[in-house]
Amino acid sequence: MHKSLTEKKIHTAAANQLFGLKDHGFCIECGKRYHDVEQGTDDRPCHKCGADDSIYSAVDIAMFTV
Ligand SMILES: [Zn+2]
Repeated sequence: MHKSLTEKKIHTAAANQLFGLKDHGFCIECGKRYHDVEQGTDDRPCHKCGADDSIYSAVDIAMFTV
């Protein structure tokens, strides 16, 4: 998990996603934020750092960091 992905940042984005405001996700390797990342996404490569399968929705990240 990238150090820029703080608990607060993840939880805020996850709450927005759960309420249907926005689908947010992050690259867990470099911390880049992505839009339109639906829950269950786990096969998108990161365009910034080039990592494979590193982008997850905020809700998914919140679940595996609890
Ligand atoms: Zn990345």
